Amino acid sequence: MTSPSQERQVKSSPVKDKSKAVKSKSKKTSQERQVNKSKSKRDNSQRRQVQAIQVKETSPTTVCYMISALGITAGAHRLWCHRSYKASLPLRIFLGVANSMAFQNDIFEWARDHRVHHKYSESDADPHNAKRGFFFSHIGWLLVRKHPDVIEKGRKLDLKDLTSDSVVRFQRKFYKPSVVVMCFLVPTLVPWYFWGESLLVSYFVPSLLRYTLVLNATWLVNSAAHMWGNRPYDKHINPRENRFVALSALGEGFHNYHHTFPYDYATSEFGCRVNLTTFFIDSMCFLGLASDPKRVSRELIQTRIQRTGDGTHRG
Ligand SMILES: [Zn+2]
Ligand SMILES: [Zn+2]
Repeated sequence: MTSPSQERQVKSSPVKDKSKAVKSKSKKTSQERQVNKSKSKRDNSQRRQVQAIQVKETSPTTVCYMISALGITAGAHRLWCHRSYKASLPLRIFLGVANSMAFQNDIFEWARDHRVHHKYSESDADPHNAKRGFFFSHIGWLLVRKHPDVIEKGRKLDLKDLTSDSVVRFQRKFYKPSVVVMCFLVPTLVPWYFWGESLLVSYFVPSLLRYTLVLNATWLVNSAAHMWGNRPYDKHINPRENRFVALSALGEGFHNYHHTFPYDYATSEFGCRVNLTTFFIDSMCFLGLASDPKRVSRELIQTRIQRTGDGTHRG
């Protein structure tokens, strides 16, 4: 038998249990909330860390990509090889340094090979003759000895303008140390010193990966832009208009236009459109560091389109 008080206690115990359960439940929920809070805090800090790493790695990589690509496109190609505009000494020094960062042979050798490429395009004297296939024109030509015709025709070219340029001479003389410093040491040490990046990441991303990407972007001009795309200016030559190459090589993919009018500083009918190098040269002209950019007249372009184009030209 249970006493009335005991009965009361027995009667009241389910209520107490219920309140206990509610209390423990609310305790549990607050604990869960705290766990969730700390989890989301951790997630946020991890996300911020990843973003910081991305910024730390992509900024120097992008800057080095741009500088080294301009050393080829605005420097060795449009300035020294084609003389399509004039550059002041400070700009030539910058482009010479940028060219060493690209590590694609010195300015003299690059410009000489490219002049042979334009003059004897798609023949044995063309250093990266695209008729020998994609692999040869992309990278294979650098893995074998030059065809005797390339050497012979190269010797016959007039290269006095290159040998009389003090920046070209200086860069050729100190090419190897300048490449070690600009292509490898600077992209590795600058992010490590200024952003606290690890030496390993700096060496593999802004230095090696960036170098590989710029090399392939340049090689695509010799391979892809000589194989795939339209020929609105001259259907009798192999070089094509290739927008993907134009994008990756800072505006050098308008290759049918460029081989038709090699002296045009924009290497394209459309100026700065998908053409960062043209934007860079325009900016240098605006700042007074470059001058006399050569252009082809609209009339001449139109006449050429009608005379030799493949009918795919879009204005
Ligand atoms: Zn070409
Ligand atoms: Zn060219």
